Amino acid sequence: MVAGSDSSFSSATRPLVAMDKLVSLCAARGFIFASSEIYGGINGFWDYGPLGVELKNNLKALWWQRMVRERPDVVGIDTSIVAHPRTWEASGHVDNFSDPMVDCRACKKRFRADQLDDAGKCSSREGSSEHDLTEAKNFNLMLETQIGASADATQSAYLRPETCQSLFTGFKRVRESSRQKIPFGIAQVGKAFRNEITPRNFIFRSREFEQAEMEFFCHPSERDEWFEYWRAQRLQFHRDIGLNEGRIRNRPHESDELAHYANAAVDVDYEFPFGWQEIEGVHDRGDWDLSQHTKFSGKELAMTDEATKEKYTPMVIETSMGVDRTCLALLCDALDEETLEGGDTRTVMRFAPKVAPVKVAVLPLSKKLSESAHKIDAELRKRWNVFYDESGNIGRRYRRQDEVGTPYCVTVDFETEDDKKVTVRERDTMDQERVPLDGLDAYLHERLEAGS
Ligand code: ATP
Repeated sequence: MVAGSDSSFSSATRPLVAMDKLVSLCAARGFIFASSEIYGGINGFWDYGPLGVELKNNLKALWWQRMVRERPDVVGIDTSIVAHPRTWEASGHVDNFSDPMVDCRACKKRFRADQLDDAGKCSSREGSSEHDLTEAKNFNLMLETQIGASADATQSAYLRPETCQSLFTGFKRVRESSRQKIPFGIAQVGKAFRNEITPRNFIFRSREFEQAEMEFFCHPSERDEWFEYWRAQRLQFHRDIGLNEGRIRNRPHESDELAHYANAAVDVDYEFPFGWQEIEGVHDRGDWDLSQHTKFSGKELAMTDEATKEKYTPMVIETSMGVDRTCLALLCDALDEETLEGGDTRTVMRFAPKVAPVKVAVLPLSKKLSESAHKIDAELRKRWNVFYDESGNIGRRYRRQDEVGTPYCVTVDFETEDDKKVTVRERDTMDQERVPLDGLDAYLHERLEAGS
């Protein structure tokens, strides 16, 4: 079942809240804030706080469950960020992984030439004034680093600009050691680095980010079927994590957009407040990567068909999800400002329970009740991420939980001791129900795990 279709957590199309509000809520509530903030931040780098890391971990766990655990034909790995530099020669990144860059002589700002319109106006956030621009020159986006302590042993290397190359370089080892047969896939989640010329739109385009990628190796005769299969699977995943159906779409690439080696590509786009943008790509990469690594390493990566004895290089269908971009889509999709009767505004993050950073808040009405509340809290923590809060007015405590998207609040009151019941308040409807303590776990389980 799709989480978004759960009746109490519906994802009706609502107007999106402006980005600046989302960005300040994320900082104020500890989802995401500028890296090294006390030094003024560093452009293109972000830190995930206590709530952000839970959101991101939930997303990665759902991806891993769907893409690796549930599939006998996909295995997961975790490889190093720094690879042998030849990897990036073979992949084409050393020669081709660049964006055209222009400098403005007047304002000294640097832009991507492909993000300026013909009149020389900057179409990005930086403004729309006329610019006196230099000629475009190519700027390689890989971040370089040095390995080794002594001067003569020092070697240049790159922080990987994508996680997938080690899925190709490890192809033979992983296939043989895990006894997989074609068709099968290798998956990983990890950090990637790109020296983006103009990082922008919060975590949408940053210089350090995470990808969740899977390379599926198949026989050339099956490539089209597998491409269509993975296209549909990946679109469904984004529905299943609760993204609003009306704000996600598949966008096939035009032939002039395709990488030179690609046969077909389709993006999963989300409609952000700043427009429709890619959050994931599904690509038919053909045999390009395995052939290139065979050429550069001298190691044979082709296969022999057991039945026909035909030798062939497997074709590759890639699914490449940006973890941070998908987190941003989840945040944009969830944030709602609701006008209540009487005119007050309630800020609510309407996350599907499976992605919500905190699942339950335990709120004793008074500090005098903290002993029994702590016991309930400790029980619930065995299973879920729980937040405990005993200070301040209960209405304000509910609002704080609404703002961070906690689906349920459990209130312990003076009757709890006698009737062994607590009040459970649901985030979206604000309905409250008395629930017996001995049935609380089952009550929450039924609601929190629905659709997972
Ligand atoms: P774009 O055209 O937006 O730069 P891309 O087509 O280069 O993206 P891919 O190389 O296909 O992106 O990477 C796969 C996924 O990784 C993207 O769909 C995106 O979600 C994520 N991604 C790529 N670059 C960044 C970045 N600078 N910051 C955050 N996520 C990124």
